[in-house]
Amino acid sequence: MPGYRIGVDVGGTKLAYGLFDEHFSLVATAREPSAAELPADDMLRLMHGHMQELLCGMGLGMKDLAGIGMALPGHIYFSRGVIITASNLPNWSNYPAKEKLHALTGASVVLDNDANVAALAEYKLGAGRGAANMVYLTISTGLGGGLVLDGKLFRGTYGSAGELGHTFITENDQITCGCGRTRCAETICSGTGMANYAKMRLAGGAKSILPELAGGMEHITARIIGEAEKRGDALAAETIDRAANGLATVFYNLYQTFGCDRLVYGGGVAKLGERLMGKAEERFYELIPMAKEYPMTIVPAELGDNAGIIGAALLTA
Ligand SMILES: [Zn+2]
Repeated sequence: MPGYRIGVDVGGTKLAYGLFDEHFSLVATAREPSAAELPADDMLRLMHGHMQELLCGMGLGMKDLAGIGMALPGHIYFSRGVIITASNLPNWSNYPAKEKLHALTGASVVLDNDANVAALAEYKLGAGRGAANMVYLTISTGLGGGLVLDGKLFRGTYGSAGELGHTFITENDQITCGCGRTRCAETICSGTGMANYAKMRLAGGAKSILPELAGGMEHITARIIGEAEKRGDALAAETIDRAANGLATVFYNLYQTFGCDRLVYGGGVAKLGERLMGKAEERFYELIPMAKEYPMTIVPAELGDNAGIIGAALLTA
């Protein structure tokens, strides 16, 4: 009986592969550059080769696979197995990856959005274990999300549900989001949003150690903002405060909409820890005191960078 599974985490710059045995133990991994400039068919053939090498290294072949799961950044029409758009992979728009990869490998193929996949991994094997309704939030250069409701990933009709970063939480922000709008949560709570806010205030004349600490305005990141705040910089503190308020609003909306009992967060910006996440949690409880009695437990993700390959493999279960 074929019982092995491969989980692939596809990014604009790297491809991460995990080979799992029938007990879902990770038995081999590989990491390759993603060659995003290639036509989609060629990149899929390249990935097929990587998977054959991974299997061959363990004395296995495609026939030993129960399935291949793929995590991709962007909008995936889950029920059709089609990539609608993928961030940083322009050649993959409207691409029927499920059908194409199945034709190459003979294996059953499942694909989904990377935040959904990480949500599934955390729910099954990480910080979401035992939750009834869980939200996963990844706070990095962008703000992504995944919803596990009544024990199942909730994708919506078109596979586009859980785009929490592009929910509107402000009436008219001056900062434009990657999606072209100006009211998204991502413009306030993500690393890019925080850096853009600090730059806007600096351009308006605010005093700060940020440009010097970063080695130039263009190098300001959430990590540098965290560093400046530790040194007592007022603009850095203001920027983190604004992001914490934004996150509290996101938490509040999620609690009111889905009545979740667990919120799991990951991503580099979340590493600002107490100063960002602690403040956001405190404000969330101020907004909705009933959550003290009926809590939405807010906890860091446990699976780190492996969430993508683990969740992708879990898609095939
Ligand atoms: Zn947006």
